[in-house]
Amino acid sequence: MAIKQDYYEVLGVPRNAGDEEIKREFRKLAKLYHPDRNREPGAEDKFKEINEAYQVLSDPEKRSRYDRYGRVDVEGGFSGFGFGGLGDDFESFFEGVASVFGGFSTPFGRTAQRVPQKGDSLQSHLTLFFKEAVFGCSKEVEIQRIEFCPSCHGIGSEPGTNPETCPDCRGTGQVKRVQQNIFGRFTHITTCSRCGGSGTLISNPCSQCKGRGRIKVKRKLMVKIPAGVDNGQRLRLDGEGSAGLYEGPPGDLYVTFSVKPHNLFHRDGSDILYELPINFAQAALGDEVRVPSLDGKVDFKIPPGTQNGKTFRFKGKGIPYIDGKGRGDLLVEVAIITPQHLDKNQHHLFEELAKVLPRTEPPPDI
Ligand SMILES: [Zn+2]
Ligand SMILES: [Zn+2]
Repeated sequence: MAIKQDYYEVLGVPRNAGDEEIKREFRKLAKLYHPDRNREPGAEDKFKEINEAYQVLSDPEKRSRYDRYGRVDVEGGFSGFGFGGLGDDFESFFEGVASVFGGFSTPFGRTAQRVPQKGDSLQSHLTLFFKEAVFGCSKEVEIQRIEFCPSCHGIGSEPGTNPETCPDCRGTGQVKRVQQNIFGRFTHITTCSRCGGSGTLISNPCSQCKGRGRIKVKRKLMVKIPAGVDNGQRLRLDGEGSAGLYEGPPGDLYVTFSVKPHNLFHRDGSDILYELPINFAQAALGDEVRVPSLDGKVDFKIPPGTQNGKTFRFKGKGIPYIDGKGRGDLLVEVAIITPQHLDKNQHHLFEELAKVLPRTEPPPDI
């Protein structure tokens, strides 16, 4: 199998080329190098390359994966969809290809044994300040994940060298054994033991990845944290895990949050609790104060005769709902503080008060 060129270069299109342009260039090149018309050496490989590039770049999902990881494993190169752009020429092309490469089951030497596998998912952890969790923020996480080797683009062969077609299976990844016995002829198909079903042998392994085609890398990712996340909650970042195998999708990244407590506010789901300390006089006579909230101070009128523990609700001053639609409330709970050290004047006034306030007595025994 030939070493992979950049798919955009293969088709001679810019990286931002539209679908139409890709289709047009592919048709032009495919006709030029079609093995039925072009008998020059190398034309067949070129034709395969063009087709493979088109198969990836014409599929939005594969293209975006290729743009991201520099490689997409292509299987079933001639299984039909790769030729979607040929229109009227579809039939004749297809026949030509079938005769040249001998069928569709193992095109390009890839085999059905290579089942796509999703890449590993990863876990990460972030500690947030109270307000970061409440209002959302962007934070950097550092992770280690498996990516396609940037040097060989996941091929595993030293750049400039080509993996060789496996001679045992001729690149099909499968070995046929024909057995003759009294019941007739039987054909056994097994995975090629020499190449492990890949159809290729790497004689010059890529020095960066030792021929594995994949390497472990450290990455720093900016994570956008939505407003309203809470302690212990987990955010999934699709496709930010390790690279998949055999065209399998990449795994995901899960980020779990710890939220540091706030010195004034407690959190109860989407509500914020704040304890407002007031004195006896404020409780008895009422007062106008300013209480802290997530959005700065808000005016609050303590009604006369407020009891200890009474809670007042400020609608919409709490934590944003995680779906972005609205906010919880701020709950202000009144705590009446009993003075512990009275000066002479205060003591005198309390004594005067004591004379005029009705005394509370425990109920008499029944
Ligand atoms: Zn490599
Ligand atoms: Zn083989």
